[in-house]
Amino acid sequence: MNAILVKGGLLIDGTGRAPLQGGAVLVENGRIAAVGRREEIAAPPGATVIDRGEETLLPGLVDAHTHLSIVPGLGNQGGQLKSRAAQAMLRAIPNMRKDLLSGVTTMRVVGEEHFLDIDIRDAVAAGRIPGPRLRVATRPIAARHGHGTALTASDGPEEIRRHIRENLAAGADLIKFFATGGTSSARAAADTCFYSPEEIRLIVEEAHRDGRPAAVHAHGGPAIRWCVEAGVDTIEHCKLATPEDFEMMRRAGTWMVANHAISFHPEGIEGGDGGNPRIMEKLAISRRRAPVTFGHALQSRVKWALGTDSMHGLLWFEAQKAVEFGATPEQALAAVTCNAADAIGMLADIGTLEPGKCADIVSVRGNPLRDIAALREVGVVMKDGRRFDQLSAE
Ligand SMILES: [Zn+2]
Repeated sequence: MNAILVKGGLLIDGTGRAPLQGGAVLVENGRIAAVGRREEIAAPPGATVIDRGEETLLPGLVDAHTHLSIVPGLGNQGGQLKSRAAQAMLRAIPNMRKDLLSGVTTMRVVGEEHFLDIDIRDAVAAGRIPGPRLRVATRPIAARHGHGTALTASDGPEEIRRHIRENLAAGADLIKFFATGGTSSARAAADTCFYSPEEIRLIVEEAHRDGRPAAVHAHGGPAIRWCVEAGVDTIEHCKLATPEDFEMMRRAGTWMVANHAISFHPEGIEGGDGGNPRIMEKLAISRRRAPVTFGHALQSRVKWALGTDSMHGLLWFEAQKAVEFGATPEQALAAVTCNAADAIGMLADIGTLEPGKCADIVSVRGNPLRDIAALREVGVVMKDGRRFDQLSAE
């Protein structure tokens, strides 16, 4: 048996229980065997002991929305998705390494061409390349005249069905579709919906019939209501959503997956598309609206999680922005651990430090409940009981 005892200062297990002072986690064969105070947990004979002193122990972080092959700072994100498979792969591998080294042990990938994310997911799971555990949507379902359309466009029942079933046959874990416009493309308005309510219902039905969740890119306008009514599981972005939209989502139990880094971090859209006046105009609107909209979401008590939307290694920045816009550090931490795991349907295996779950453990210097920026100061990164923090970032 392979046993590891990880000792730290504060231990925040992610369940919402009060933090433990002087915590420890016992790992056996890649799973968590016990969680408690240092003095309560004895290392079995032959166990490896990792003593992190005063560092805070946390569950491995979960990024609920990203893309492996996109680097927003390079600009033209749509063009990046459309690039040749080898080029996309060459961006994906270092991106994933950055994510892992930042303490992210699981990510949900919501749009890649070439079925790239499926092969990467399987290679990571087999231990052939380092990276966070992946849940993947593979090719996005998007309308020809809309946003998010890369190499594959899907219009009308026949084409939508075929592309969804091809995704499922290839091994997609979820179905992702683009309902509204977005910030990073010049033409489509962020509150215009490019799919009809019938098409939206069809997409969700096709996903659910195969037991897969449906995630939708939607900022605002009628799309939010149509998607909630169709039974969508997660709504990504919601940057122009109204208090009524959030109330409807809360009642239906629909998750919001929010993100701010790509709009606010200098290496985000501004870094990549700063020369495109139409995109910068949309970005200015998005920046103005973000704190207000996020405040409405918090007031509504809608369930929410965070994702970086390709801002690799910056999940800590997402959490910091959420706090800046009114969330408590407890809420922000939950949004990148247990709630993110719940939003992506993986809470049974990850998201908290509890016996039986995957041994995904991160240590950080400082107390994130006092200063959420402590999430940036990552020490140990363990996934499935294996340490990755000694990997080089290059
Ligand atoms: Zn995205």
